[in-house]
Amino acid sequence: MSVTPTYKCVLLDIEGTTTPISFVHDRLFSYVKNNLVNFLNENWNSLELQEQIQLLREQAMKDVNNNVSDAILVPEKQQEGEKTNEDEIKKAIIQNIQWQMTINRKIGALKSFQGFMWKSGYESGELKGELFDDVLVALKKWKENGIKIYIFSSGSISAQQSLFKNSDKGNLSEYIDGYFDTSIGSKTEKSSYVNIAKEIQFEPKDILFLSDSVKEIISAKSVCYQTAVMERKNNIPLSDDDRKNNVIFTDFHQIFSHSFLNF
Ligand SMILES: [Mg+2]
Repeated sequence: MSVTPTYKCVLLDIEGTTTPISFVHDRLFSYVKNNLVNFLNENWNSLELQEQIQLLREQAMKDVNNNVSDAILVPEKQQEGEKTNEDEIKKAIIQNIQWQMTINRKIGALKSFQGFMWKSGYESGELKGELFDDVLVALKKWKENGIKIYIFSSGSISAQQSLFKNSDKGNLSEYIDGYFDTSIGSKTEKSSYVNIAKEIQFEPKDILFLSDSVKEIISAKSVCYQTAVMERKNNIPLSDDDRKNNVIFTDFHQIFSHSFLNF
């Protein structure tokens, strides 16, 4: 490394940081929308699928009880002789998922279902996790220098693991020391960054957090993390204030020649 790092571990966001935003929005979300009908038909008898459906069903009940507008209930399984209400359940699931995805809902049951579908897509080779070209080189450098590498993303932990395991640069699982999703707290809440530091047993000042989201960076910075904003192609444009107040990189190579003295 050209500059001795002042951090002992890195915490990486995925969308807009290690991976193009378009991969998540276009590739992953389209995969769910386009394959949902076939997926339900082909996996209907899988216990795991039925567990995922139960999560959607319970969430839908909560939505109705909380008067969430347009909520779509998923009927319970019923069986009368040879006849089941399978078609009725499938139809409700499709409508339920389409509705939640249209309003871009960030809720556990939907995320879990999406993660379950993506896992199957990754395993069949139909999906490959997309990473910017400079990411693997940086992961290697950090590993060689004893820097721990963690992920913090709003996608479920299982979806994060699948992405790195089945990436377009190969299986990168060995580089990642741990994964965090929003079950530890929202990405814009300060307390989430406090909780992560506790969990990985590093002082906040020893952690370098990289994200494209200035809101996330502000939260991490306010609890003494070292931070930098990633400005990737097709990310949301940064304001003049964002530029004035933050260290900004356009690729991971730049991290290694920067001395982090901003805390
Ligand atoms: Mg992001």
